[in-house]
Amino acid sequence: MPSGKTGRRVASAVASVEQKPAARPIAIILFGSPGSGKGTQSKYIVEWLKIPQISTGDMLREHIRRGDEIGRAVADRMKAGLLVPDELVNRMVFERVQQPDCERGFILDGYPRTLAQAEEMVSVLDVRGTSQVVIHLVVDYNVIISRMSGRRVCPKCGTLYNAVARPPKVEGICDLDGTPLVIRDDDREEVVRERLLQYERQTRPVIEFFRATIDRVIEVDASGAGPEAVFERIRGELREVLGQDRIR
Ligand code: AMP
Repeated sequence: MPSGKTGRRVASAVASVEQKPAARPIAIILFGSPGSGKGTQSKYIVEWLKIPQISTGDMLREHIRRGDEIGRAVADRMKAGLLVPDELVNRMVFERVQQPDCERGFILDGYPRTLAQAEEMVSVLDVRGTSQVVIHLVVDYNVIISRMSGRRVCPKCGTLYNAVARPPKVEGICDLDGTPLVIRDDDREEVVRERLLQYERQTRPVIEFFRATIDRVIEVDASGAGPEAVFERIRGELREVLGQDRIR
């Protein structure tokens, strides 16, 4: 198969002509700054397409919770809002995508976040024959700050809430399982600032790499509209990309 963007275009044209549900698996890469709504949109897409969400942030937090070797290695950097080493997240993601539930496809939420991760991801997914589509959630900086400062999470089921955009029915309590909501360690204000700085320096430039490498980079304005309206836009765009047979 020819390599580079042209090769990918040929491959996706073939896939769209075939239009079989068993066609190439798809990686939906949700890209955007912290607070842009990647987690929330991932959950909608999971529900719709029945493919798993792979959130490197959630996986790392789970390692910390368990207190295992990976958890101990990353805890300090995560608490400070810094990125963890590329090799570690690359390995974690590639082990995860080999699980049987990823056969039809998966959503990458919070990965890749550096150029080195993006290069590695594209080369591994190309070899595996996985199509790639990037959804870039574009959000105004001030909106992000206000979203993140009001963010709460259910420690049990992981549902995200926001004081303004998505309040729970009862303040401070998860709608789904009644668990008291918490502020994630890395949502504290000084950490949020550091995370945004890291995003500007290390992650934002990755979009240029995507534009040069991946055929489908879809920009979605996620500033003004509520999460459901944003999802409708994403769904409209993805429908075209995926072809009808995959969508049930
Ligand atoms: P998130 O929940 O996606 O915002 O991630 C929370 C934290 O986990 C980040 O601030 C980083 O410390 C770490 N992290 C998550 N994903 C990555 C990644 N792809 N590369 C490096 N660090 C990551």
